Amino acid sequence: MTTRTTFSLTEAAAAEGLAVARRTLELLRGVPEFGDRYAAAAPPGTLAELAALPPLAKDDLNTALAHLEPAAEHGATWLFQSGGSTGAPKVGYAPTGFYMAKVFEHWQPLERDDVFVNAWGAGRMWGAHFLAAGLADLSGCRVIALGSVTAEEYPQWLGFLADRKVTAIGGTPSVLRLWFAHARAAGIELPSLRKVLWLGEAWQPQLEEDLAAVAPKARRHGMFGSTETWVVGANSPDCPADTFHPFPHQLVHVGDGGLLDFTSLDPAMLNPVLRYRTGDAGELVPCPCGRPGPAMRVLGRRDNVVQVRGLGLHVDELLARVEREPGVTRAQVLVTERGGRAESVDVLVLGALPDPDSLRRALLAETFTLSTAFVHDPEHVRVRVVDALISNDRTGKTAGFAVREEL
Ligand SMILES: [Zn+2]
Repeated sequence: MTTRTTFSLTEAAAAEGLAVARRTLELLRGVPEFGDRYAAAAPPGTLAELAALPPLAKDDLNTALAHLEPAAEHGATWLFQSGGSTGAPKVGYAPTGFYMAKVFEHWQPLERDDVFVNAWGAGRMWGAHFLAAGLADLSGCRVIALGSVTAEEYPQWLGFLADRKVTAIGGTPSVLRLWFAHARAAGIELPSLRKVLWLGEAWQPQLEEDLAAVAPKARRHGMFGSTETWVVGANSPDCPADTFHPFPHQLVHVGDGGLLDFTSLDPAMLNPVLRYRTGDAGELVPCPCGRPGPAMRVLGRRDNVVQVRGLGLHVDELLARVEREPGVTRAQVLVTERGGRAESVDVLVLGALPDPDSLRRALLAETFTLSTAFVHDPEHVRVRVVDALISNDRTGKTAGFAVREEL
C-alpha cells in the first residue's frame, strides 16, 4: 500500500526546524490586518499541526512585511520586487548572501574553474542576479556579471564570451533563449559552455534545440523559488526539467487541490514564509535521477486561467496546443479588453507558421471558451506571427498571457 507524500521532509527531519515556523506564527499573530485569523491556531509541533494553519497568499505576505519590516542580523537588508504583477513593486526582504550558503551545502553546479556569465538582469530590485552571484561567490569561480543587453549588443557580447571560453551561463529561460537564438543567427558557437543555470520560469524545451546547435556540451541546472521563499529546490541534468529536490531548510507541502505551499525552516529568514502559496500546483514524487527522498514536480500555475466574456480560458492548455505545431517555438495569449469586456483574443506566435488561418480555425473548433465566447464575432480571435512576445518591463518575465485595456 502506498500513501501519498504530502510533505518534503519526514516528521523527524522537520522537528527541529518547526521552531522557526512557531516563531513565524507569533509574528503573523501580531499583524493587525490579519485580525483573529491566527488567534485559534496552535503553535505547530507536528507536520499535521502545520498543515492545519491558514495558508498565506502573495498579498498576505506583503501586508505582513509592511507591518514587520524585518532587518538582517548580519550585513545589509536588501529589498527586492516580490509578488503581484500590477502597479507599484511589492517588496520582499533578504540579507546579504541571499540564503545561498544553505543551497550550496547541497547543490554545487559551479566549480572553481568555471567561467560563469551572470545574465540575469541586475537592478530594478530583481533578486535572481544577486542570488546567482552569491552562489558563484561560494563556488570560487570566475564571474562575468553581464546582466541584460539590448538586441544590437548580442553579437558583440557573444564574441567576447566565446573568446573568454565561458563554461557556464545563467538566466531566466526567456533570456537564455534570446542569447542562444542570437548566437545561432550570428553563427557563433560556445563549445566550452557546459552548464546552463536557470530560475524564474519553467524550462523551455526549445532551449535544447538551441543548445544542440550553439553549445552541444551544455546541460541544464535548474533552481525553483521566488523572491518570497528564495531558492526552495534545485535539479541536475539527470532530473526532469519540472522536478526539483527541495532543500532541508525549505518545507514543501502539497495542500488542497494540489496547491504547493512553502514554509521556511531557516532561522535567518526575513520574510514570514509560513504555508506560503506561490500559486503553483505540484506533487511530491520519486525523481528518476535516483536521488532518495521526495522531489517536487511542478505542474504549473493553477491561476493561469483568464476570464474571457465570463468564461475561463485555460491558457496553458491553449499554448501547449499551439506549441505542438511544427515551426512554432513559443506562443502567448493576448486578451484585449474594452470597458472590462474582452474585445479580442490574439494568439501571438514566435517562429514559423505557414498557415496561421488554418491554426486559427482549428483553435476555434477545439476550444470551447473561444468558440462560445466569440460565436457572433469569430474574426476577433486571431493567430499572429510576431517578432517578439510581450514581456513585463517590471519583472523581465514573459507570461503565458497578457491583458491589454483598449481605450
Ligand atoms: Zn533528481
